[in-house]
Amino acid sequence: MIVILDSAINEQSPDYQQTLDYLAHLPGISTRVHKVQGTQQDLTEIYLIGDTKSLSADDIQALPGVERVIRIAEEYRILGRHRDERRASGFDYNGVHFGQDTLHVFAGLCAVDTPEHVEIMLKALQAHGQHCTRMGAYKPRTNPYSFQGHGRGCLPYVFELAGRYGIRVVAMEVTHESHVEEIHECLQQTGQPTGVMLQIGTRNTQNFELLKAVGRQQEFPVLFKRGFGITLNESLNAAEYLASEGNSQVVFCLRGVKTNMGDPHRNLVDFSHVPVLKRLTRMPVCIDPSHSVGSREQAPDGISDLMHVTAQGVVAGANMVLVDFHPNPAKALVDGPQAMLMSELGWFLDDVALARACYQQRAARAERQRQG
Ligand code: PEP
Ligand code: MN
Repeated sequence: MIVILDSAINEQSPDYQQTLDYLAHLPGISTRVHKVQGTQQDLTEIYLIGDTKSLSADDIQALPGVERVIRIAEEYRILGRHRDERRASGFDYNGVHFGQDTLHVFAGLCAVDTPEHVEIMLKALQAHGQHCTRMGAYKPRTNPYSFQGHGRGCLPYVFELAGRYGIRVVAMEVTHESHVEEIHECLQQTGQPTGVMLQIGTRNTQNFELLKAVGRQQEFPVLFKRGFGITLNESLNAAEYLASEGNSQVVFCLRGVKTNMGDPHRNLVDFSHVPVLKRLTRMPVCIDPSHSVGSREQAPDGISDLMHVTAQGVVAGANMVLVDFHPNPAKALVDGPQAMLMSELGWFLDDVALARACYQQRAARAERQRQG
């Protein structure tokens, strides 16, 4: 059960104290207080955990300072939709809004290699009016002898260059909680030139201790990748770990699932789950065509599989696209074969815009149908 308090309530007020005290003394129930970013103001939500079936929602609704009470039957208590359309979805971070009705492209390097390549990438993004990117500093690799990323050493120039080229959000994977601290420190030392969205990679989808640690901090939003070999339900429960620890600023990323049925793609593309995720949860939904497809192969129409699947995800309503580019894929230290070329950036963005316009027309047509 979720108890939403009046947005105007003051934590020092007797109303607040009385309500919290009452809830905390319900037998067999524990409480967790969450601050949630609303569209106008921040909201306080109190989660009642335990057997809440016998509680009277009306009694709780009547407590001072309570705006409304939501009974939760389904899983994913915090991130789930629960047929309550009035709960805000989405969040603002460093001047960028992320929601189930927006779209942002995060084109960039799978792995940071040289400052020159980072600068070429960011300069091109600025020239194309982009304000987000992806840059990998900590790389989880299958082979222990493969390049593991430059780690904290590259953060100062990545952040400074991002700031110089007007990038507001850098998606960056973390594989250990110490990386969050390193990112925080480096942003402070460089004067907060940009923002970071912490990425949980598919190899860590069920690394619950990492999820708890990343969930405990509220400074950075999280890009959470679907596990490549588990059910969607298991991935959603894992994402809920972030929220249960206090961070519900989570974007859910589809990146394909492992099965030979997907061959010759690296993974079986799962972008048909974009609308499913929007139905089940309030999270914005990201697609990662690069790690799904894994190559630059083209269809006879001259359009790469990467661009085709991106369009499929965007036509289905995706809210974010995470995609690998590289100034010289042959020299890339990670995932060169799937990186798009800088000369293709404008074309890629035009194709995304076409698909987005198509989605918006489809949504408008559906709205007319609803209105009768
Ligand atoms: C990545 O985005 O760099 C990455 C490693 O992706 P995934 O975790 O989906 O394999
Ligand atoms: Mn990669």
